[in-house]
Amino acid sequence: MNIIKQIDALRENINQAKKQNKTIVFIPTMGFLHQGHLSMAELARRQDETRSKFYIVMSIFVNPLQFGPNEDYDKYPRDLSRDAELAQRAGVDIIFAPTVHEMYPEGTSLTTVSVAEVTEGLCGAGRPGHFQGVTTVVSKLFNIVQPDIAYFGQKDYQQAITIKKMVQDLNFPIEIIVAPTVREQDGLAMSSRNSYLSPEERRQAPVLYRSLQEGAALIKQGETRPEIIREKIVQRIRNESTGQIEYVEIRNADNLATTSIIDSNVVIALAVRLGSTRLIDNIVVEV
Ligand code: AMP
Repeated sequence: MNIIKQIDALRENINQAKKQNKTIVFIPTMGFLHQGHLSMAELARRQDETRSKFYIVMSIFVNPLQFGPNEDYDKYPRDLSRDAELAQRAGVDIIFAPTVHEMYPEGTSLTTVSVAEVTEGLCGAGRPGHFQGVTTVVSKLFNIVQPDIAYFGQKDYQQAITIKKMVQDLNFPIEIIVAPTVREQDGLAMSSRNSYLSPEERRQAPVLYRSLQEGAALIKQGETRPEIIREKIVQRIRNESTGQIEYVEIRNADNLATTSIIDSNVVIALAVRLGSTRLIDNIVVEV
């Protein structure tokens, strides 16, 4: 498996695959791969009946556009040679790992893509400009790779909904597949940022998923008032950790609309800061 750093070389490589009638599958990441990322390649491999019709392209690019000025762009973990080994084992055919200069030769992009409504609130509130950075880079990557199918993780629920909306609104001919969140044994959603946690923070971190599960169970038992669910989750996180809650919200699972009564599928989403590490997680509850 090769690592390609130049856009032209990647296009040439993908053209060859297309000539062999391959289906181009794309998995965008920021690298420092864990099983959450790799599960998407494994899922694609399983969905590829012939095991050779899919050509799996994974990008590894820490996109400066989606980080705020006080965020962790500089310290974001990077390890390309380790990533390459893991990706190869998971069945990735080619890694695209461009430099910032390759993606933004003029330092930034005068053209941006932004999606309204679904990017408002939740992570959009605490990270101004974040989703515009994501949709801009994903649009660029979609134009470079021109995939037939692209995978995104449910872990970043608002991102997945935003990308789906962008693809629909801008007529990208790409099927978007949202892959389930992969978790550690104790329930903590895998994330490259988990590597920032101190041992004590790591011990506390599973409370996020425990509290989401408790919220989901209450809804399943018939609770329809979002504020009651929210309060239970907030209390549990406060009782069982030193985490600072950024948000706990219950939204419509399809379009992220706010809801005053739970009468259709919802997502419970949260962001909590443990020390200096911001963790997010969510759970979808079918009603
Ligand atoms: P990132 O490298 O954090 O930008 O993530 C790249 C892709 O992997 C995104 O589509 C994420 O939603 C997805 N992803 C990250 N963590 C997980 C996880 N624990 N389970 C499933 N997908 C994940």
